[in-house]
Amino acid sequence: MSDIRVTAMTVFRASLPVVSARKQGIGATLDAINNVFLKLETDAGITGWGEASITPAFPGRTESHVVALHVYLRPLVVGADPFRIGYMMERAERAVVGVPAAKAALETALFDIVGRALETPVCNLLGGPCRDEIPLSWSFANPDFDADLEMGKRLYADGLRIFKVKMGAAGHAEDLRRLGTLRAEFPDDIDLRVDYNQSLDVFDATLKLRDIEAFRPTFIEQPVDHRRIDAMAEITRAMDTPIMADESVHSPTDALAVVKLRAADIIAVMVMKSGLVRSKEVAAIAGAAGMPCYGGSGPETGIAQLASAHLVAATPNISLGCEFYHPAYYLKHDILATPFPVVEGKVRVPSTPGLGIEVDEDRLAKYTIERLA
Ligand SMILES: [Mg+2]
Repeated sequence: MSDIRVTAMTVFRASLPVVSARKQGIGATLDAINNVFLKLETDAGITGWGEASITPAFPGRTESHVVALHVYLRPLVVGADPFRIGYMMERAERAVVGVPAAKAALETALFDIVGRALETPVCNLLGGPCRDEIPLSWSFANPDFDADLEMGKRLYADGLRIFKVKMGAAGHAEDLRRLGTLRAEFPDDIDLRVDYNQSLDVFDATLKLRDIEAFRPTFIEQPVDHRRIDAMAEITRAMDTPIMADESVHSPTDALAVVKLRAADIIAVMVMKSGLVRSKEVAAIAGAAGMPCYGGSGPETGIAQLASAHLVAATPNISLGCEFYHPAYYLKHDILATPFPVVEGKVRVPSTPGLGIEVDEDRLAKYTIERLA
């Protein structure tokens, strides 16, 4: 608890241009991402920031997240003690069903305020860092694969060694061709992974995945529909390559179901699915079953990806790297005042208070479509 009170809340809906289109098993991004930003001001002169990244295949629609923050969550926040994060998030859960990314934005902004008030980085509030840097993965998802290949080579030269291929958008034969090209064009020290984003049919998923195993992926992510954890369990038993659940796990309850059925070998945690504290709960359930986790993400600016970096830093079994490449490599311009910290293919977790980097409000204003105060 504290004597600090939240005095103002501003919700921004913004459209941020990206360097290339992306297609994945379910969902596509064309020329921009449409995210929601949250600014909380306090009577202590401290400001906290949060972000909701929304894609149709993940937590729904941008508009519903704007309404959730502006109409339903605002009354809980303005006038409240920002240190009472667990209490406020429990009330948020009762105030409006769903909209996990809106709730993640709120929780992130509260942690940012508390970290700045205590002059400590957010990772110290989440258990303390067990790592200072996180290996970065880039996802191949551009329909123009040759352009993506050039990008991958640039990233390899920058020190990245983890590459994930988004599968299923262009068919099985094209997926095999892309994996073959990557194995031929890159040295053997790359860590190659594949993500189907639910796009395989259950009836022949195992057959297709056996073809994929020839390219030695480190893991196969979310091969089938998120609801079919029975099929995920059969695939996990059938394959030698570890299977990762992403869309099948949005909450600790989902994680428990996956663990009980052994419906995966790995779980992808994501702040936009579960928030910061509940992502730690997902990782704890996975850890109790001996499963590692991975730092997943949607298309996000540096605000959300800093929150995710603090989470991964403070959670020992989120040990398979992260995909927080968007502010450094995917957005035309990030909205942080200094570059998102990537050094030699790894994300450096900031050690400065709160999320650790200031927001460039002029740049956010430039991309803002709607501002609700
Ligand atoms: Mg995924």
